[in-house]
Amino acid sequence: MSPDAPAQAVYPCSQCGRMFAHADLVPIAGNWVCGECKPAFLSRVMAGGAAGASLHGWHYGGFWIRLGARIIDGLVLGVPFFVLALLLIPSLFKTPSDPANPNLGAFAALGLGFIVLSFGISACYEVGMLKYRGATLGKMACGLKVVRADGSDLGWGVCVGRYAMWNIVTSGIPYLNFVLMLTSSIMAGTDVEKRALHDRVCNTRVIYQ
Ligand SMILES: [Zn+2]
Repeated sequence: MSPDAPAQAVYPCSQCGRMFAHADLVPIAGNWVCGECKPAFLSRVMAGGAAGASLHGWHYGGFWIRLGARIIDGLVLGVPFFVLALLLIPSLFKTPSDPANPNLGAFAALGLGFIVLSFGISACYEVGMLKYRGATLGKMACGLKVVRADGSDLGWGVCVGRYAMWNIVTSGIPYLNFVLMLTSSIMAGTDVEKRALHDRVCNTRVIYQ
């Protein structure tokens, strides 16, 4: 691409999910809608207000139910990690070492290994569950699932991207995570489609099954 040509950014239509140049989309009730979807979308907005604007008749999962699902997932993953930690920590103190010179290297290595392991397991859990079941156990328990804007199932890239957006970008950066999680929660709470930050980036929706 030559530096003179303006980058032709494309955006998804919130209704059909197809990609359009920004100029071909119109903002209606907080959603970008393409020319083809505009008449139907407008009449739905007029008839049912913003809540009736769902193309697929979806009922979107809001902030509180999704928080509940995250808490259940936290327990699903947290309890085994807690047990693992209880099993590992005593073995540290059994390692032969000079009592005046505790084995700090082993302690640090174990702690780091534990963090890497727990991050890897939680990534495999969330990405795998989203790919194969469309929901984590917490979301299933709350009757929620994650779909693309057009209603299709998530591909690997979207599952990984969504995991990375939430766990690394939104909630993983110390200090900044407070602001980003608050922003994401407000977005999910106020958006007609209840999209959090990672839903906007990955073009996903959380809906009731
Ligand atoms: Zn459209």
